[in-house]
Amino acid sequence: MKRAIYIPFDQLHREYGALKGADPKNDLVVMVESQSMIKGADWHRERLFFLISSARHFAQSLRAEGFDVHYIKATNTVAGLQEIKKKFPKIEFIAAEQSSYRLSRSLTDFGVSFIENDFFLTPRALFASWAGLQKSYLMENFYRKQRVRLNVLMEGATPIGGQWNFDKDNRLPPPKNYTWPDYLVHARDEIDRDVATELKMEPSQTWATTRDGALAQLKYFIKEHFEKFGPYEDAMALDSWALHHSLLSPYLNNGLLHASEVIDAACKSFYKGKVPIESAEAFVRQIIGWREYINGMYWFLGEDYRNHNQLSANRPLLPLFTDPAKTEMNCVRSIVTDLKERAWVHHIPRLMVLSNLALVTGTNPQEFLNWMRREFIDATDWVMVPNVIGMAVHADGGLLMSKPYAAGGAYISRMSNYCKGCQYNPKLRVGEDACPFTTLYWDFLDRHQETFVKNHRMSQQVYGLKRLSDLDELKHRAQEVLSGLEKGEI
Ligand SMILES: Cc1cc2nc3c(=O)[nH]c(=O)nc-3n(C[C@H](O)[C@H](O)[C@H](O)COP(=O)(O)OP(=O)(O)OC[C@H]3O[C@@H](n4cnc5c(N)ncnc54)[C@H](O)[C@@H]3O)c2cc1C
Ligand code: SF4
Repeated sequence: MKRAIYIPFDQLHREYGALKGADPKNDLVVMVESQSMIKGADWHRERLFFLISSARHFAQSLRAEGFDVHYIKATNTVAGLQEIKKKFPKIEFIAAEQSSYRLSRSLTDFGVSFIENDFFLTPRALFASWAGLQKSYLMENFYRKQRVRLNVLMEGATPIGGQWNFDKDNRLPPPKNYTWPDYLVHARDEIDRDVATELKMEPSQTWATTRDGALAQLKYFIKEHFEKFGPYEDAMALDSWALHHSLLSPYLNNGLLHASEVIDAACKSFYKGKVPIESAEAFVRQIIGWREYINGMYWFLGEDYRNHNQLSANRPLLPLFTDPAKTEMNCVRSIVTDLKERAWVHHIPRLMVLSNLALVTGTNPQEFLNWMRREFIDATDWVMVPNVIGMAVHADGGLLMSKPYAAGGAYISRMSNYCKGCQYNPKLRVGEDACPFTTLYWDFLDRHQETFVKNHRMSQQVYGLKRLSDLDELKHRAQEVLSGLEKGEI
């Protein structure tokens, strides 16, 4: 054996990363189930189950191909690699570039040689050369370049459909009297059952743990949900936990699917005339735009980016984030309940409900980031850090997003059907029945007016404060709401 190929649990693909061109005759494969990963935080059990069972299935598929796979349980990754070094003192360790700063550092120190990480469509250096030339890092500008460079939904130099983005057509509220297609369920096998027993849990059937299961999920999305993906992508509905979202992020993030496979399937379906351009463009933008942009920015902005707290937000995490019974807010209670069940909610509950609440309550960004990382099935470091610190709670002072995503109850009321069954009223900002989001939105603007009045995208909203005749009463109510949220009574 000449080479030991280290495969982390987020690079589970035979044709990409360090396994591309690997040969069972010359290469052995090392995978490490790190106990510090498992026990290091109170991870959502669905997430742990998904990551470990996917890795064990992948190891099994490599063994079936003839690889000598060393699947090691060790205190941490480096301790696992040391076991191999003892057995094979002369072997060379190789891996694809890792997807977090922490792992990159420990593997470099150990002496692993890296090859380029091709799990993304944009090499890190190419992204850095784009970002290095920008005055502001507008995702839309990056996305247009990606459409041209990757030749996705283009007719020569022109975007198909004559425009780059169909956002205006894609902001519909949840439809009434509508039947949502079912979601795929993934049967459990012996490996799954073993992992579940070790973790002392009963997994849902939401997440596949094999390449075949991930491919089935992709096929199912394209057939059953893709057509209506665009129009309802921002809606939130009590009668549907995933609407028409693809549920593909876990597999894209652990390597069971590659972004190019997803884009190929989406484009094929569009060219066959099965989906309108509004849905095709909206979906493609998520994959070649947002996903690549977020990964690029994680590496471009550096390791300290995660520590930003430009709005000096220092409130400890509110109890409702860990226990949905600690709130009467219908939207938050439903979303946190869903999250507990499947470790997933789509981007609008993440952004406009959970993160919006953290933002307007002044919750500490790092506490909120740690909670988000623990709870979500797809919460890899590279994707959670910029999404939370930059997009969700504006802790970077606007480096990523030019304005904070703060909103009152009117937005949630328009885009969901949560408010009808809620004891609060999204239209009210003062009084006991006032929607906490509406009260806290104005209070947030008031607290940060000096910062945001200088921001041309926010100044109108800040000037709106002047029109509030009940600002003193509102500020008083905001204090009541904050203390009620801390006690778990609002
Ligand atoms: C505060 C916040 C935190 C988030 N944290 C994560 C995270 O930890 N992991 C994660 O994969 N996504 C994250 N996202 C992005 C997005 O919410 C999820 O990718 C999406 O909800 C996953 O469900 P889906 O596969 O059905 O996505 P779809 O809505 O079907 O979208 C398709 C794909 O686009 C990609 N995508 C879309 N938006 C983003 C984005 N902002 N960043 C990166 N990829 C994107 C994902 O790979 C997703 O699978 C976050 C968004 C917000 C606002
Ligand atoms: S009224 Fe406010 S708290 Fe209640 S569901 Fe609507 S937005 Fe959420």
